[in-house]
Amino acid sequence: MNELSVPRPNSLDAYWMPFSDNKYFKGDTARMLARAEGMSYYTPEGKEILDGTAGLWCCNAGHGRREIKEAIQKQAAILDYAPTFQLGHPIAFEAASRIAEMTPEGMDRVFFTNSGSESADTALKIALAYHRARGDSGRVRMIGRERGYHGVGFGGMSVGGIGGNRKQFGALLPYVDHLPSTHLPEKNAFSRGLPVHGAELADTLENLVALHGAETIAAVMVEPVAGSTGVLAPPVGYLKRLREICDKHGILLIFDEVITGFGRLGTNFGAERLGVTPDIMTMAKGLTNAAVPMGAVAVKNAVYDAVVNGVAGGIEFFHGYTYSGHPLAAAAAIATLELHKTEDLPGRARAIEPYWEDAMHSLKAAPNVIDIRNFGLIGGIELASRPGKPGARAMDVFRRCFDNGVLVRVTGDIVALSPPLIVENSHVDRIVGTLDEAIRAEA
Ligand code: PLP
Repeated sequence: MNELSVPRPNSLDAYWMPFSDNKYFKGDTARMLARAEGMSYYTPEGKEILDGTAGLWCCNAGHGRREIKEAIQKQAAILDYAPTFQLGHPIAFEAASRIAEMTPEGMDRVFFTNSGSESADTALKIALAYHRARGDSGRVRMIGRERGYHGVGFGGMSVGGIGGNRKQFGALLPYVDHLPSTHLPEKNAFSRGLPVHGAELADTLENLVALHGAETIAAVMVEPVAGSTGVLAPPVGYLKRLREICDKHGILLIFDEVITGFGRLGTNFGAERLGVTPDIMTMAKGLTNAAVPMGAVAVKNAVYDAVVNGVAGGIEFFHGYTYSGHPLAAAAAIATLELHKTEDLPGRARAIEPYWEDAMHSLKAAPNVIDIRNFGLIGGIELASRPGKPGARAMDVFRRCFDNGVLVRVTGDIVALSPPLIVENSHVDRIVGTLDEAIRAEA
């Protein structure tokens, strides 16, 4: 042990780990991260692990940022907590204004949550409240997309399109349908950036409108780039077409920007990079650099106005969390967004994207690589599954990379990468070199 090592826990029994193979973890070498700084994590014993995933797509400014830490410390000494129902505290308003400065024009109203899942459910509830306020209360159906991920609340889970996340929990939202996934490997495999084929898949929204009636549909919710199901960038023109069909039928368009927000695609939000403005936008993760949990939902001013002016007096929207706009999270958000500006983190992501893209695609020569996808500072490397054991090969690659000092993420047999936006060429080389070696070793 040296002064930078952190003791391992005496017992692993009590903690029920989320989205984890608890039995395996607790029976194996219990890979742990105990400390972090800049581009790297450190194990309890002090071994460095290069962060190829920005934690879980969230530490965009790198780890242990002094400015964020000091803002949290300062705020904790000023105001630890104050309720925000029928009361306010200054820093929550300031944080909302800072977010509104970054969102697309005309999306200047911000509702605070504590996570991406809460943001997803909040966005769905805002969509329902919007239609009801306008006397259109028949619009209760939500349209998601196969392979969409919108967190684990009942709303986000229902609108999301991942079978594995739904099958344990029978009761889902009743009025939901799904667009097909935009993943077309037979046409788009090894695409660089946005895939060329598949814009026409947006037209399937017309089929759902014909099936259910536009007057029953409240909103369409999609991720601009699906991250959790293995990096699926939208085909060229797809989102624009979705926007047009939504407009034609009075359906709200919700972008889940929990991953794509805050510089990941080289712009403040994916909406900007992809040139399509939604009506409602969810965010979390990079908002506070993950130093304190916080999520938010930004809406077009017209959406806010409809809900808030839709009642003569009293509470306008019966929704909120004890910790909505929590002072420590608001302080972390303001410090994070300041770093985004002063260090031009979206610009850094844009600058390194071509190098990143080449590095991702250099893995094509490795065995069992059946597709590579990239957009912004995101990469997905899809591996052929071991016969009868879906996910096993990528999980072995993940463990091997960790043991060789690089953190990657896997979903099914897809390795997903999303380094902090401060990543440099040498880090990219190390991530790709370690991954290449691991994929070859698991052939
Ligand atoms: N939405 C998207 C697009 C996500 O990628 C995630 C998490 O990865 C979530 C929602 C859920 O966020 P959280 O885990 O903070 O609830």
